[in-house]
Amino acid sequence: MSILVASIQMELAMRMYDIISKKKYGQELSASEIEFVIEGFIKGEIPDYQMSSLLMAIYFRGMTTAETVTLTMCMANSGDTIDLSSIVGIKVDKHSTGGVGDKTTLAIAPMVAACGVYVAKMSGRGLGHTGGTIDKLEAIPGFNTSISTDNFFKIIKKIGLCVVGQTGNLAPADKKLYALRDVTATVDCIPLIASSIMSKKLAAGADCILLDVKTGTGAFMKSVDEAIELAKIMVDIGYGAGKKVAALVTNMDIPLGNAIGNSLEVIEAIDTLGGNGPRDFTKECVNLAANMLVLAGKGDLDYCTSLAESTISNGTALNKLCEMVNAQGGDLSFIKDTSKFAVAPIKHEIVSTKSGYISAMDTEAIGISSVMLGAGRATKESKIDYQAGIMVLKKTGAYVKAGDTLAVMYSSDAKLINGATFKYLSALSFTDKEPLPIQLLYAKVEKNNIIIY
Ligand code: URA
Repeated sequence: MSILVASIQMELAMRMYDIISKKKYGQELSASEIEFVIEGFIKGEIPDYQMSSLLMAIYFRGMTTAETVTLTMCMANSGDTIDLSSIVGIKVDKHSTGGVGDKTTLAIAPMVAACGVYVAKMSGRGLGHTGGTIDKLEAIPGFNTSISTDNFFKIIKKIGLCVVGQTGNLAPADKKLYALRDVTATVDCIPLIASSIMSKKLAAGADCILLDVKTGTGAFMKSVDEAIELAKIMVDIGYGAGKKVAALVTNMDIPLGNAIGNSLEVIEAIDTLGGNGPRDFTKECVNLAANMLVLAGKGDLDYCTSLAESTISNGTALNKLCEMVNAQGGDLSFIKDTSKFAVAPIKHEIVSTKSGYISAMDTEAIGISSVMLGAGRATKESKIDYQAGIMVLKKTGAYVKAGDTLAVMYSSDAKLINGATFKYLSALSFTDKEPLPIQLLYAKVEKNNIIIY
């Protein structure tokens, strides 16, 4: 019997019921079973209720590395894959697992491109309590995030960077699976997150990928150990697919920088490239950019750190951002003068009724508070209010006196302020003793190497 006939016979004999049952008992699925599931699900032959059942079995039983790698490759190859080889030189990409106030791409993509390394990036929209780069970029009037593939290539070749939304057909299996995971409580599952992220990154075609794995109250991974486990599997998947990959495990127990919300975050990113950003955010951007440059072969970490810093001090990163905004149809005058961004009509100061040190911030609750103001989507169909958001003035470790302003809320709808304020205040804990300083970076995961900081 030929191999083809044997595999057709096997496929005919395969039943989703048996695959669900196998995973329910904790057994490893074969590559052909995983291929059968993804293919059948995309074609609509496997209904959502059976796929949901398999997802929940995976949630409880996990997946081996071999299963996770197969799942990733099936999802990566489920739609278009981008071949960047006509752009001569190293192309780097970066992905954050999602956070609150995480506007790093807006700053580090220009920093890295200013050092002569191509940044070809496809980004996502906000998800749940976390923001998304594409929503932030669209806060710049005229900025086009859905340009044609041809134009994407032209812009990268000309100015060294371009940031767009994912094309409709990039890893469609992930799109369909993610929507189902979102409503079946199966998002926070390491093999499912790893395959979801890496399928999109592999399909997007860069040579090197830096992963920013967030951990803490505002992240999908609540503990550092879980985040390291997720980072390890994603790095292994990337190397298995012939890419250079590293992951930083970073703190999401505190919002990043001070601005949360689309226009506010764009302004903060511009300020940062101008050398006037918040210290924590600037430090994280330099660190991420330096690690992208290391992956691209620009030198060791110390050298790449000084390179990244110099793009801020010599203005080349801000110039690169201007070039990108111009190339993607955005109104450059807003970058040159951020006071042109419209300010939300409703501005509300949250005043502390307590004195003491802020000992903790439930960062997910703070993210939800900004979504409640209109900065994110309550439903898939909701429209974003680009002006809405929060400027966080006092963060974990700060001493506050009763009467001090903790944060300023911005919204276009006065009715949204009370609920969001209540949510924000519920996120803060106070103490009399000065808390330990915040650690931004917990670990770096490389191929066969983990550095704990
Ligand atoms: N981001 C993704 O793209 N996928 C996940 O599963 C989680 C975060």
